[in-house]
Amino acid sequence: IRLAMKHLCAGTMRMALRSSHHIAVVGTGPSGFYTAKYCLDINENVRVDFFEKLPTPYGLVRSGVAPDHPEVKTVQETFTQVAESPRVRMFGNVEVVDSSTPVSDKNTISMDELRKSYSAVVLAYGASSDVSLNLPGESMRGVLSSRSFVNWYNGHPDFAHLNETAFDLSKVEHVVIVGQGNVALDCARILSKHPDDLRETDISTQAHQALCHSKVKSITVLGRRGHIQSAFTIKELRELTRMRGVQVLIDSTELELGRTEASMQEMENNRPKKRIVDLIEAISLGSNANEESSTGGDDINTVQRTIRIKYLVTPTEIVGDRNEVKALRVVRNTLTGAAHKQKAVPVPAEGENNNASEVLPCDLLIKSVGYKCEKLGDSIPFNPQSHTVPQLKGRVVQSSQPEAAPVSGLYVTGWLKRGATGIIASNIPDAKETAAAIGEDLRAGVLKDLDNALLTSSSSPQLPWMQSSAGQNVLSSNTVVSWEEYLKIEREEERRGSTFTPAKTKDKITSISELLKVAKE
Ligand SMILES: Cc1cc2nc3c(=O)[nH]c(=O)nc-3n(C[C@H](O)[C@H](O)[C@H](O)COP(=O)(O)OP(=O)(O)OC[C@H]3O[C@@H](n4cnc5c(N)ncnc54)[C@H](O)[C@@H]3O)c2cc1C
Repeated sequence: IRLAMKHLCAGTMRMALRSSHHIAVVGTGPSGFYTAKYCLDINENVRVDFFEKLPTPYGLVRSGVAPDHPEVKTVQETFTQVAESPRVRMFGNVEVVDSSTPVSDKNTISMDELRKSYSAVVLAYGASSDVSLNLPGESMRGVLSSRSFVNWYNGHPDFAHLNETAFDLSKVEHVVIVGQGNVALDCARILSKHPDDLRETDISTQAHQALCHSKVKSITVLGRRGHIQSAFTIKELRELTRMRGVQVLIDSTELELGRTEASMQEMENNRPKKRIVDLIEAISLGSNANEESSTGGDDINTVQRTIRIKYLVTPTEIVGDRNEVKALRVVRNTLTGAAHKQKAVPVPAEGENNNASEVLPCDLLIKSVGYKCEKLGDSIPFNPQSHTVPQLKGRVVQSSQPEAAPVSGLYVTGWLKRGATGIIASNIPDAKETAAAIGEDLRAGVLKDLDNALLTSSSSPQLPWMQSSAGQNVLSSNTVVSWEEYLKIEREEERRGSTFTPAKTKDKITSISELLKVAKE
């Protein structure tokens, strides 16, 4: 019997390895690409189809990473290698939606259809919303999330014209940014950098023009806790000190308040933390300001903009006038609790004179307190507390309860799996884990075999956008962008960029209709 079982298992394994396994990956950000890469390594019969709601791939590498950090974007070369595998296809400009979403003019495909048509579906659709400050007035003109602001300067089609409706940099003098992560510092840097130093980057041309007319004088970056808990990294902070015409200010009394016993313990045996604290202290003493300013046409000693990094404050009120932001009221905090668990609590007001509160004037308020993932619909399990899809080693499970059963054929990766934190490289071990789970399930015969996946099979769903002019191949549809067509977009953006003086890396195309036109030319 044991021998018979062994043969049976070996047979199942051989069949699993021989037959085609089509995997759908929802989203073409780093996590989608890395997971696809490791899935292709499972065996040579694995095929991957990407579904991406934009006509362009790369997720936050295109619409998040700052334009003046081109070295970070070289990771696209790795992703290109994945996309160019003959076993990979991209269906760009196709949004995956919940099964209950009514069919619309947009190119959509439901989760149900995907799950029926693919051996496995990997959710890699990242974060599409923001953590709120939970203050009245967040919808005022001049208040926006860092996600909106970053998408704007990176030319994301949904945000490309934000400066025509949400803010006007030619009238903004004072900016307050709530939050002290690297994204907050990206926003501060882009707002204060000399526009000539952004000219050659792939920043959206519209955003660059707006920055050329900017009247911004001061940017204040707020943190609830002290300097020893700063969330940004040293590289990003140092960059602020190296911009011409920009002075970084930090109040030494705030640093004094942050040096609690618990904070000092947090620094023990933590060299990276110690180095960043040293830099913060040097800035507060003025000994680091503009230490390596680049030389440009301007007198580098003339301070045109200040960036103030302010610690131990919590916003309590957005002050507006006729629905436009005018100021942010903050209260002073103090730190309590043990090392690594310290909390910021408001300092009690003394008497009638409420000197624990302060009003910071601003005509632009950027909330940079976190990106947030959203659920795709009721058919996919979702944890509303952590804003992630519940999973075990990358397998989606029914709920966040321990021992919850896996949802057959459904996997998750990236920010949607871990929460919206971590750098591009953090997605690698995460993607490996998800791909390993798919490989195990495939070898165990848990995943269904599919000779023909969606769009090539006779059972493919007939959605309006799938009716191509040729009537046969959905990839020839006028609105679905294949990888080869995306490359046309990339070449055109580079060509347009080369017509600028000095040349831009790319002149990004920011409207869906134009992206499609170029793709289909
Ligand atoms: C502003 C910012 C700057 C950053 N800078 C750096 C940096 O300099 N260096 C670094 O290492 N890391 C950086 N990161 C972190 C890095 O970008 C993330 O770790 C990474 O992008 C997360 O990958 P992801 O694939 O989970 O999500 P994403 O990159 O967001 O990709 C998700 C993809 O899914 C698509 N999608 C969404 N919904 C759907 C749907 N319904 N159907 C189909 N497709 C869908 C989206 O269009 C997108 O292409 C930065 C992050 C931010 C926010």
